[in-house]
Amino acid sequence: MLYIARGEELLRYSFGPLHPMNQRRLEAFYRALDEFGTGYSVFKPFMASVEEIRLFHDEDYIKFVQLASQRGVGYLDYGDTPAFPGVFEAASYVVGTTLGLVKLALREEYRGFNPMGGLHHAMRSKAGGFCVFNDAAVAIEYLLKVEKLEAVAYVDIDAHHGDGVYYEFEDDPRVVFLDLHQDGRTLYPGTGFRDEMGRGEAWGRKLNIPLPPGANDVDFRAAFDEGLGFLEKFEFGFILFQCGADGVEGDPLTRLEYSHASHRYAATALRKLAEEKCGGRIVAMGGGGYSPENVAKAWMEVVRALA
Ligand SMILES: [Zn+2]
Repeated sequence: MLYIARGEELLRYSFGPLHPMNQRRLEAFYRALDEFGTGYSVFKPFMASVEEIRLFHDEDYIKFVQLASQRGVGYLDYGDTPAFPGVFEAASYVVGTTLGLVKLALREEYRGFNPMGGLHHAMRSKAGGFCVFNDAAVAIEYLLKVEKLEAVAYVDIDAHHGDGVYYEFEDDPRVVFLDLHQDGRTLYPGTGFRDEMGRGEAWGRKLNIPLPPGANDVDFRAAFDEGLGFLEKFEFGFILFQCGADGVEGDPLTRLEYSHASHRYAATALRKLAEEKCGGRIVAMGGGGYSPENVAKAWMEVVRALA
């Protein structure tokens, strides 16, 4: 069974019609979902508590977001991520929803998808790249600290490197990390190189695969197969899958040229891997994607693979 998070609370995570991260993306996906019909259940979004957000984020940063949310103007970072009235609540809904899906997947045989989740650029103490709170990282901390899982796999196919997850867990061997993205020399955040393989005890438990601008489905598949071989070597109790759609050809912010077939390929393979490794426990998170049409197509492939 697949639970898909749906509700106007998730549409609130929108920086306005002129910003690439706006509610048209989710609206396009939900329209496509209506055509898909049944075969999934709706998961109503809910808000994370401050205590839950604190599993990953620093107290001072949470307070900073609360204040910025009350003021409702200015930026949360150097200029990519604006504050707006209610941004704290909107970001808390994204975290709570991902966490809720993770809890369901742990206790019952449900897979989950939070299309607004996967805000992978937020660090413990700062916003970045349209990301206020890092729901994926909060979920990782929850699984490790509260549920006491020995290891978790995080897989990220967004066009941008998942720096907020990579750097904050770079030396943590319990986080098995795989990230395919457009080469950091050509795209924000400018990181995620081959030699970034984790540090200390975690060395070798992280794999970053940068792909050059113009990389297509064939390139994606070869890189993803390498990634699957890497994941096969480890044991973990859960898969978190950031399925950003901004690598699909025609995205206004990136230069990769995948089709939605890459999303089908990755989601199908990860579902199978979750069944082999961790009792089928997998939660997908939407991530980036700034062409609403591409977002709808790519995420529907994820839905079909997980439903
Ligand atoms: Zn992205």
